[in-house]
Amino acid sequence: MPVGKLRQKVLYGTSRKRGMQHLYSRIRILVAIVSTLAVAALPIFDILRFDVWSGRHVLLGEQVSFSVAAKAFAYPFLGINIGILIVSKSVGRYLCGFACPYGAMTRLREWIRFRSKDPLPRLMAEVVLFTACALLGAVVFSFWVHWDVFMEGSSLARLLATVFLGSMVGGLYMLVRVLGMGFCRGWCPSGAYFALLGADSTTGIEFEHPEACIECDLCDKVCPTDLKPREMSGGAHREGIGLYAEGMSNFANCIRCGDCVTVCEVVTAKNETPVPLRMGVLPPEHRESRERPG
Ligand code: SF4
Ligand code: SF4
Repeated sequence: MPVGKLRQKVLYGTSRKRGMQHLYSRIRILVAIVSTLAVAALPIFDILRFDVWSGRHVLLGEQVSFSVAAKAFAYPFLGINIGILIVSKSVGRYLCGFACPYGAMTRLREWIRFRSKDPLPRLMAEVVLFTACALLGAVVFSFWVHWDVFMEGSSLARLLATVFLGSMVGGLYMLVRVLGMGFCRGWCPSGAYFALLGADSTTGIEFEHPEACIECDLCDKVCPTDLKPREMSGGAHREGIGLYAEGMSNFANCIRCGDCVTVCEVVTAKNETPVPLRMGVLPPEHRESRERPG
């Protein structure tokens, strides 16, 4: 069975059948919903939005100048980025695994595809995915351009707005369809930045009970970033891929999604042994072992 299908079967099938939807999955869904709604609320409720077409920028329901709107955008943006820097440095790429809307879309597609076996439902699955991409694209569009451009704008303005909106929706849809989690594995610039920041962080995956491992290899097969979760504490390094430099440890590349722990819990559920893999705060020796062997 191809790895992608195996990943879907194990993650969305086996764990669901055994009533083992992991806490990580619940937190991930909650974080994805809350963060998407928070971003969508900005233009929808006129909390903050720009209008690069007519210059009618809005802050808290009042029309303001560009510099006022830009300041209202810049300070929180800076604050959020400082927060991201601190979080990534101390705990690693959790933002990728838990809060990234792209990751949420990709998981949505995986989940729909797993549940849709016949051609018609599979087509419907693509429609659902496209609709989700369109909604996200519409939110981003309406943050920068007012929808009035389609009614009142010149032909050129309407054309540019259509290209802007279409490229965001189509680009996101195609990226999810073609690259899926491969984007997180090698091409996401934010992910590469978080990986660099989080190389020495103090939380992640630990192969805590190797004696309980049944060597099913499923943790390797479900990892969306092609890592070897069991070798992480031994300081294993992945080859450089795309934007991700050669020599980064598996630990730095791990997006802390918890999928390996989920599947490990499922396959060892019937054994009276501890779960071999764990995600959380790591012991100091884990950190020392990350140095690349000469
Ligand atoms: S090692 Fe585990 S937590 Fe890290 S990316 Fe792979 S599956 Fe996710
Ligand atoms: S999923 Fe768990 S039991 Fe299976 S190989 Fe990985 S660590 Fe071992």
